[in-house]
Amino acid sequence: MKACNSCGKCCIKYSNGALSASDADIELWESLRPDIYRYVRDDKIWMDPETGNQIELCPWLRKEPNQTSFNCAIYFDRPEDCRVYPALVSDMINDECEMLEPKDFADTRKAQDVLDTKFRDS
Ligand code: SF4
Ligand code: SF4
Repeated sequence: MKACNSCGKCCIKYSNGALSASDADIELWESLRPDIYRYVRDDKIWMDPETGNQIELCPWLRKEPNQTSFNCAIYFDRPEDCRVYPALVSDMINDECEMLEPKDFADTRKAQDVLDTKFRDS
């Protein structure tokens, strides 16, 4: 299994209403990051601060014109769901995560062990 190459697929796939923030995330943003808290409504992210509607693409996903990879503009304060991804090889396969190598597809149980031991909490 390779390191994340910041391809952005997970951010793009999940930012349209499929991401959750923890209560602790929301409390922190409310007190220290009002710029992020603006995008929370009824504990949901990412909501348009003006209309209150769900935003289609995470407002913190950044890509410079000359870059092939993406950056997270709130990386150190990103929500819990973003911090824990990827947790399951099955999700990574569905999401076409670019961390996966052919050997990971050949032995998904071993790939999950590698993910659990090497990448989680890193
Ligand atoms: S907050 Fe950061 S890590 Fe989470 S979806 Fe947005 S850009 Fe990706
Ligand atoms: S899909 Fe995988 S390789 Fe791409 S940014 Fe997400 S974790 Fe990284």
